[in-house]
Amino acid sequence: MNYWIFQGNPNQYDFETALKNDELIVNWLVSSHKKKIKIDDKIIVWLTGDRSGCYALAKATSDPYNKKGSSPDDHLWKTPPTVNLRVGIKITHNFVTKPLTGNLLKHYNRKPKNTGFQGTNFFSNHEEYENILQLSNKKIILEANGSQSLILSNDELCAFFQCSPQGGMRRSKKTNTLVLVSNHVKSIYDDKWIGDVLHYTGMGTKGDQSLNYMQNPTLNESDSNNVEIHLFEVFEEKKYFYQGQVKLKSKPYQERQTDENGDSRSVWMFPLELINNTPARIDYKTIESLGNLKEKKTSKIDLNRLKEMVENQPKSTPSKRTTISETYERDEKIVRYALERSGGFCQLCEKPAPFKKKNGTPFLEVHHIDFLSNGGDDSSDNVSALCPNCHRKMHALAIQSDISKLKSKALKKFDPND
Ligand SMILES: [Zn+2]
Ligand SMILES: [Zn+2]
Repeated sequence: MNYWIFQGNPNQYDFETALKNDELIVNWLVSSHKKKIKIDDKIIVWLTGDRSGCYALAKATSDPYNKKGSSPDDHLWKTPPTVNLRVGIKITHNFVTKPLTGNLLKHYNRKPKNTGFQGTNFFSNHEEYENILQLSNKKIILEANGSQSLILSNDELCAFFQCSPQGGMRRSKKTNTLVLVSNHVKSIYDDKWIGDVLHYTGMGTKGDQSLNYMQNPTLNESDSNNVEIHLFEVFEEKKYFYQGQVKLKSKPYQERQTDENGDSRSVWMFPLELINNTPARIDYKTIESLGNLKEKKTSKIDLNRLKEMVENQPKSTPSKRTTISETYERDEKIVRYALERSGGFCQLCEKPAPFKKKNGTPFLEVHHIDFLSNGGDDSSDNVSALCPNCHRKMHALAIQSDISKLKSKALKKFDPND
């Protein structure tokens, strides 16, 4: 079996229409290699022009033959061809809505000559075909972020971008990309989101950062150096969450942060925004477990160092990001029922409510014994009225004997005349 690049020129034939209705393309013009093209050969469909790149993969459904009569796509020719030799083809992978174009692809593609008719045929090979297939799969997933997240391992990330496995900024000359990793697990001091703009900290872990250091200039000049910037975030050890392609939103600026020794220093911040999208919304739970992880890390910091870090830390705007979370709407009748049933006493410590609300009713909180988020019911036998301390305790410790105590109290019906 042979592999081919069939190159098309959009000025001579309307590929966009043809591929949007790929039943229309049943054959392709053969201008060379007519003895070598065979049925079942695999074909990379390559278009020239402003947005040159791979638009489809196909396979040959016949050996070359002389076209007699009409084809369903005859009307798509802007300049009808003078050659009659054709090979039957069938589109197997259609990328017309997401063609493989741009920097990242160049590494995987050689560039056929930017000339010729629809049917210019070039030799290709298995590796090239497989690379494109793999790339198209990844690219489609890469672009389908949003609610659907794409998480890569470090190995996958490196294989895809052909970059080094380490560091926050990873330059790949091969794919002409710069991969930025915003690792929220590794550092306590963090890149931060303000709205949909990520303020990304430059390279350099000690002392004042310089715009000329390592990859800082690559990012700084990314408006003009033609390097594609791709952003990943890490919320969990070893999981690289793809955000997408980003660009500088505005000029980098300097601010003061403390370095890993607790010394105050000046850093460069790069404001970045996604090119085609708003950032993927991260699940609230992911951010919450990241918080727990950071809490654990922070608890291991030596107290003298902690003092130094906090006291040297300049004031700054807190990071704020939009997350997705599901909320349960509880039935207010059940809430009131639970409060009335308690008679104003916490059902765990059995002490009176700690204070009264402005309207004079005792302040207690209604707690779902089996959490709604774990599938618990919003019903009178799954709720209890608790003082704020006991409520916190239930969520922090969930001690089995406490749960049993609340459950047995929840089974009691409310008696309004009691
Ligand atoms: Zn209590
Ligand atoms: Zn609760």
